[in-house]
Amino acid sequence: MEKKTNISISLLPGDGIGKEISKESKKIFNWIDNNTKFNINLIEGLVGGESIDKHNTPLSEETLKKISKTEAILLGAVGGPKWESLPFNIRPERGLLKIRKDLDLFANFRPAIVFDSLIESSSLKPEIIKGLDMLIIRELTGGIYFGEPRGVKKISENNYKGFNTLVYTTEEIERIAHIAFQSAMARSKKLCSVDKANVLESTELWRDVVNQVSKNYPDVELTHMYVDNASMQLVRNPKQFDVLVTTNMFGDILSDCASMLTGSLGMLPSASIGTKNDGICNAMYEPVHGSAPDIAGKGVANPLAMILSLAMMFKYSFESNNIYILINKVINSILNKGYRTIDINSRKSKVVSTGEMGDLVLEGLNNEKI
Ligand code: NAD
Repeated sequence: MEKKTNISISLLPGDGIGKEISKESKKIFNWIDNNTKFNINLIEGLVGGESIDKHNTPLSEETLKKISKTEAILLGAVGGPKWESLPFNIRPERGLLKIRKDLDLFANFRPAIVFDSLIESSSLKPEIIKGLDMLIIRELTGGIYFGEPRGVKKISENNYKGFNTLVYTTEEIERIAHIAFQSAMARSKKLCSVDKANVLESTELWRDVVNQVSKNYPDVELTHMYVDNASMQLVRNPKQFDVLVTTNMFGDILSDCASMLTGSLGMLPSASIGTKNDGICNAMYEPVHGSAPDIAGKGVANPLAMILSLAMMFKYSFESNNIYILINKVINSILNKGYRTIDINSRKSKVVSTGEMGDLVLEGLNNEKI
């Protein structure tokens, strides 16, 4: 076998089903460690509710320091009813936002891929979604979710003013635009930028900057679309899109809409990526779904979104498209054979538990040549 490459990865299981699906991801890390050129140093840490219970904070400085020195993070999910009444700034989700903000993970990748055998899980007609494979790139650390001023102020008795600020700088737009164009170059060279330039000045700037950046990528066909039209087009004819890039809030909404085209939350991976900065982690991978308290502890959660996130990690952080393709191929084959966790169950399927689904992926990988 060729010389081993040492890599360091953080695994943050989090709460609820996060722990169960992380156990299955560990099986895949072990397989990669034993069967490929990668020698994995896996570091585990607490985030979310469990960290609140132990350290009174959703992410301790010690954990943040430890994970920032690894090359990539795989996170399960955080949150649950136990911590819902806590003040906003120490809720489990703040741990997640802190990682994104502190590591400056500004580009969020959310692929929406429809596996042929799951077409019946979508609420749309098969011919509209068959073969769908699109990528939404959402700006993640700017825009209205972070803009100042923000708050709720009293104007007069029983009358308050709630306000947020939608702000983008040229630099923030440029860096996400470059990522989007580079992704389009690696796919079908089509990029759609979504804004609301007709009414919001900050997104008028967005459009101007994207146009400027496009001059560096003459091979990419760039189109612009207003967000209201984009939401309609996503449902009407999603296959017209390949790579779509947009602001933080529009991306939040459009990516949830696109993910539902695929029919199942338990199958959706994501990546949040920042600038390469020697010695500091620049990527976190996580399933799109949450900690699913309604099924936590029952051993029925679908581990595939997290395993697909792990596959994305090897593609984007470790430049191993082989491992990415292999994991996707194995999952496709498991689904084709009719194995399903309850969330993607259909009439003819064989229902398996979280652990059994993890074992099936492992078995599939063992049967492949690498
Ligand atoms: P959720 O995604 O946890 O669950 C929504 C529904 O989908 C539930 O019925 C759940 O059982 C099902 N589901 C989700 N993932 C599944 C899987 N892998 N396999 C099978 N079924 C699955 O969303 P929610 O119920 O709105 O939120 C629950 C908690 O998770 C909340 O505390 C919320 O704040 C948190 N949350 C965390 C993240 C994150 O960590 N990134 C994201 C969203 C929500």
